[in-house]
Amino acid sequence: MADTSTRTDREIRHVPLLEPLVGDYEERCRTFSWEQARGLLAGLPGGGLNMAHEAVDRHATGPLRDVVALRFLDRGQLVTELTYAELRRASDAVAVGLQALGVDPGDRVCTLLQRSPELYLTVLGTLKAGAVYCPLFPAFGPEPVFERLSLGKVRVLVTDRISYERKVAQFRDRLPHLETVLLVDGAAAPADDDADAASGARPEDTGSWAAMVESATAALDRDGFRIAQTRPDQAALLHFTSGTTGKPKAAVHVHEAVVAHHVTAMYALDLRPGDVYWCTADPGWVTGTSYGIIGPLCRGVTVVTDSADFDARRWYRTLQDERVTVFYTAPTALRMLMRVGSQMAHEYTFPALRHVVSVGEPLNPEAVVWGVEAFGLPVHDTWWQTETGAIMVSNYPGMAIRPGSMGRPVPGITAAVLERGPDGRAAVVHGHVRVLTEPDAVGELALRPGWPSMFRAYLDDPDRYGACFADGWYLSGDLARFDADGYGWFVGRADDVIKSAGHLIGPFEVESALMEHPAVAEVGVIGKPDPLAGEIVKAFVTLRAGYEATPALQRELITFGRHRLGSVAPREIAFDPALPHTRSGKVMRRLLKARELGLPEGDLSTVEGQP
Ligand code: ATP
Ligand code: MG
Repeated sequence: MADTSTRTDREIRHVPLLEPLVGDYEERCRTFSWEQARGLLAGLPGGGLNMAHEAVDRHATGPLRDVVALRFLDRGQLVTELTYAELRRASDAVAVGLQALGVDPGDRVCTLLQRSPELYLTVLGTLKAGAVYCPLFPAFGPEPVFERLSLGKVRVLVTDRISYERKVAQFRDRLPHLETVLLVDGAAAPADDDADAASGARPEDTGSWAAMVESATAALDRDGFRIAQTRPDQAALLHFTSGTTGKPKAAVHVHEAVVAHHVTAMYALDLRPGDVYWCTADPGWVTGTSYGIIGPLCRGVTVVTDSADFDARRWYRTLQDERVTVFYTAPTALRMLMRVGSQMAHEYTFPALRHVVSVGEPLNPEAVVWGVEAFGLPVHDTWWQTETGAIMVSNYPGMAIRPGSMGRPVPGITAAVLERGPDGRAAVVHGHVRVLTEPDAVGELALRPGWPSMFRAYLDDPDRYGACFADGWYLSGDLARFDADGYGWFVGRADDVIKSAGHLIGPFEVESALMEHPAVAEVGVIGKPDPLAGEIVKAFVTLRAGYEATPALQRELITFGRHRLGSVAPREIAFDPALPHTRSGKVMRRLLKARELGLPEGDLSTVEGQP
């Protein structure tokens, strides 16, 4: 059913905000308002707002209808494509199917799936049905899956048979809210199969995703579908954080977050119709939904997704053969490419590539410069969190990059650093905080609430949510400084900052300096208790191929660090063939520290390589 009130990109092209942000940053900050940004979207007839309508439906009835919206590469690089018009119809069918199952607005629908058409259609269909989408990273083991399904009181799970049998079936009777499990590859195996019997999976406990879609498509053709009339402040997404600092938190986001997804996909990612865009983050994490699905589709681009895991050669081939124009990835991935050497990059050409962007961890200056070597383009850093829902600080195309800087706040975002208390976090005295205005003063990075993609709750944890705010600021938990020109520099997470002989040392600064040594592929830095200094800096180093972990190299790195960093240089260096990472790709300094000190390792549900 056509939505006649929908405005397409062509019809609103005259709006100055629609132009990408190149060069006129200050002017854009002065003139920007979130209300104006909201006006760039169509909205639902009757005043509601729905993410999926903005991402898909408004394009499906306009000039972009036959543009490829999603292009899936499977492991064998077989391609499946859906145009915006096809995506609208297919996601409508999923919404109809979910509603037929009794899914009500506000109910939670989860996926535990590899990157596949079924995953993306479930995201969009869930939003269209007015339900809340919650992604689960597909490599999670049974315990993290159970914990999230349970905490989220998830009603519908879409997964595949093996994942169900290995990770869910044994817990099914302890998940009273989980009414429906849909398998994208058919029903569970009959119980007389030994292995399946052992897993507790019974075919009658699951349904078939394909069968649901088939009957829903017939119903759609017969009765049509009207997208749920969601309010802007109605819950849309439930995202678990990466668990870098401890137990993951479940952040609730609402439909109007799409206003920020759209504007930041334009300003920071520079996306526009005609682009072929690849975001390497899995939709199991906030980047993979905000900027792997919603934001880019809002911009009317072609989104490439690849179901295969990291492989340097495959990545270069994909960038080349798919003629990717904008590439959004993470420092860990860039470091893995760097480890292979830029020679491999030079075996490919990237004439279409225009903009390379990174998020998730501090981006070492070395990686920014390496981008120029490998792609002919510097890597643009962006800073944000699961809680912020969208990019908050960024380097914009056309803006001079200062390698190592996160960039400048997104127009519409007020960021500041707040004076710290003894625990490293903002000092809240009688309900008040002090904003540090001197250039380069280090404090807790804080944002003025009011941007549309700000999380609205930690699920069932109002105290923890409340503790994130003070004196009219959202407190990020990260330490940063802004230089005299307003560029932000990440110092470290408040938890990771090292206090040594009166100095406050950000691990990022030390790590970036060591990364400049040719032997160093990756490094994580911690503070190790010391009776004299309070803490000394210890670095764990992974070496590049061809280098040997010898005492001589250890000494060389200590000297190298001392030359670069002076008194904040690491006093100890250990070699570690593989640093612990979260599954979303971040170095887990808390784990390095716990292991060094023989302390309990805490929640390990998001550690890469855990069962
Ligand atoms: P948890 O909150 O569970 O400990 P997490 O903070 O890693 O996990 P995310 O929300 O995925 O979960 O990550 C946001 C954090 O990642 C930021 O607070 C920051 O510490 C780090 N980060 C993201 N982007 C950047 C960046 N460009 N530079 C430096 N740090 C970054
Ligand atoms: Mg966090």
